[in-house]
Amino acid sequence: MNNKYKVLLIEDEANIRNLVSAMLETHGYQIITAETCASGVILFDSHVPDLVVLDLGLPDGDGNRFIRYVRKSSAVPIIVLSARSGEKDKIASLDLGANDYITKPFGAGEFMARVRSALRNFRHSSQEGRLPGGKFILGDLVIDYDARRVCVSGNEIHFTQTEYNIVALLSEHSGKIMTYSSMIKAIWGDHEDEGSVKKLQVNMANIRKKLGAKPGESRFITNELGVGYRMEG
Ligand code: CA
Repeated sequence: MNNKYKVLLIEDEANIRNLVSAMLETHGYQIITAETCASGVILFDSHVPDLVVLDLGLPDGDGNRFIRYVRKSSAVPIIVLSARSGEKDKIASLDLGANDYITKPFGAGEFMARVRSALRNFRHSSQEGRLPGGKFILGDLVIDYDARRVCVSGNEIHFTQTEYNIVALLSEHSGKIMTYSSMIKAIWGDHEDEGSVKKLQVNMANIRKKLGAKPGESRFITNELGVGYRMEG
């Protein structure tokens, strides 16, 4: 099995490095590994990988330095590996342009699903953008951007202006976690504070209800607790 995708893995812990390498190799990915931020940067420039898997706690500093460097010139998908305690670092890395994060410890199934999703969304956004005809389709959810209309199983959902803007924003970044702060900035042009997060959460609750999600269930949109929201994709 060889899918020819090249993955740069930057992780200083040998057991996680070996585990992740083995998972990716089994599925036909080519792996390049680095143990520090500095060597990651060098390998990134010389190998131009299709995907980066990045640990945030590296011996020569913060993995977010790597994201800052790479995002100056590249939109390559970046999946961050983070410790359970690293909530703030995780949000910072998403705001710097990481596409997704996965919390240690993680299973092979979950990890590979994130990898496939990151690669799929990247191909989508770099080559096609929105689907032809200005539509976004996810299962029985269809968003018609030109008409600003959302349908589920052929029935139109009546969103307020703000609710529609939120759904459209998430769909344009489907597969990627949008942090509270990036959403608040995009929708209202405001900075994140308690009031604006509350406002976003109220709108999201209405959106989820209108999309037919039962309490505690995610339908099309996942709530990443304390971090943000993600449209499946
Ligand atoms: Ca580490």
